[in-house]
Amino acid sequence: MAETPKTTSSGTGDAAKSVSGRNFRNYLSTADQKGRRMWLYPKKPHGRFTNARRWLSYVLIGVMFAGPFIRINGNPLLMINVVERKFSILGQMFWPQDSAILALGLLLFFVGIAVFTGAFGRLWCGWTCPQTVMMEMVFRPIEYAIEGDAHQQRALAKAPWTAAKVGKKLLKHAVFLLVSFIVVNTLLTYVIGIDAYKILITDDPRHHLPGLSFLLLFTLLFYGIFARFREQACTFICPYGRLQSVLLDDNSIVVAYDHKRGEQRGKLRRQESAAQRQADGRGDCVDCLQCVVVCPTGIDIRNGTQMECVHCTACMDACDAVMDKVGRPRGLIRYASLNGIERGEPLRITPRILIYSAVLLALAGGLAALLFTRSDVDVTLLRSPGALYQQSADGKLSNLYQLKLINKSSRDLTVDLRLENPEGKLTVFGEARVPAQQLHQTSVLIELPRAALKSRTTPVRVGVYRDGRRVQSIKTSFIGPRLPAANR
Ligand code: SF4
Ligand code: SF4
Repeated sequence: MAETPKTTSSGTGDAAKSVSGRNFRNYLSTADQKGRRMWLYPKKPHGRFTNARRWLSYVLIGVMFAGPFIRINGNPLLMINVVERKFSILGQMFWPQDSAILALGLLLFFVGIAVFTGAFGRLWCGWTCPQTVMMEMVFRPIEYAIEGDAHQQRALAKAPWTAAKVGKKLLKHAVFLLVSFIVVNTLLTYVIGIDAYKILITDDPRHHLPGLSFLLLFTLLFYGIFARFREQACTFICPYGRLQSVLLDDNSIVVAYDHKRGEQRGKLRRQESAAQRQADGRGDCVDCLQCVVVCPTGIDIRNGTQMECVHCTACMDACDAVMDKVGRPRGLIRYASLNGIERGEPLRITPRILIYSAVLLALAGGLAALLFTRSDVDVTLLRSPGALYQQSADGKLSNLYQLKLINKSSRDLTVDLRLENPEGKLTVFGEARVPAQQLHQTSVLIELPRAALKSRTTPVRVGVYRDGRRVQSIKTSFIGPRLPAANR
């Protein structure tokens, strides 16, 4: 039978009461014993870590809004156009033909996450994850500004539906919707590009019903996540949170409560000095629950590292403020590894981190090589489907091919095709000129003397030249008549 969680009389909120007990693993911090959602009212955090995170968030949000207008070599800073399968990363255009680079890049990303998490825990979640940045630095501050701090929000939730309450709720949700709309519009420019976005919002709406429906749908989804779903995105949905148990070890840096210093916890007695407290066998934790009431996921970090902890540092700031007040050193809750707390060990590079790093370096090297050798133009030369060889009056044989040129660069390119092996003649119908970031198709005729044929199928090599320099070599085949055995 499940035990009843220990409750406190601090009056700091339902979530704080239910998690602050020794049976915390039996309960979710955001659900009661019947499984009903318990709404969290985290207290507004203050402190040096919160300030640093706030400034970083402003930079990240600034980059997000400025990103669509930044171009490098004429290409967007970042564009992930899955519809047209065109991708721009740091101004470099990638096409489906670059799938090897994209696959290696993804692999690098995932190994990078493993290495980073193994060493630094969920630093990403607390400082740069878009969900945390948006929730804690955009939506939550709006809520504090309109409804007040945690105790005022809780009182408002319990209050009857007066005109004042309706006004506050309407205002909050209207601002939430507006912010969601603005952010989703910005994110859309990363998908379709700023030029297509401008057309979408200025053209006749009847021509863009799918795009506009997408905008509306994702605005509602975005609003729903930040207005209602909130911390559950991190605790129920995010796969990264689930991976913590396999990625973290005793040497990983996490937001940790120094239980050796903090226990035995207990309320501060009147006029109690640190020496008296120590003599009584009591630690620095004054059991004020300030670390719990600020937690946006409703957990008590004193119970140890937990999957719900997004490393937002709010508890570190809250506890530092308490330590300042009671005259004890800051850092009772701090960035530390389990070994750092248990044995006072500094951060250690473990064999696991070394192996991950070696794999990471190898992948990064492979990716750099692929990027370095990547050509601006991708050429495909295939024999025209269904076409056989032709024979001219002078006995020469010819094959017709389809030439596909993809210009990955931001300037128009002209390429020159030369037949390199065997001796013969290659004719491109029309100019092999490709506008920037476009695909160009045309036909090519290859003529070979009968003497050049090795068998019914003869391998052919074609060189692709740009500005007189060979940039690619293509192999294809030439079909001829069945040769008498003596000629093979
Ligand atoms: S804020 Fe610090 S002192 Fe207060 S309960 Fe948390 S760990 Fe203990
Ligand atoms: S335990 Fe601390 S760091 Fe973790 S989510 Fe709660 S407040 Fe943030």
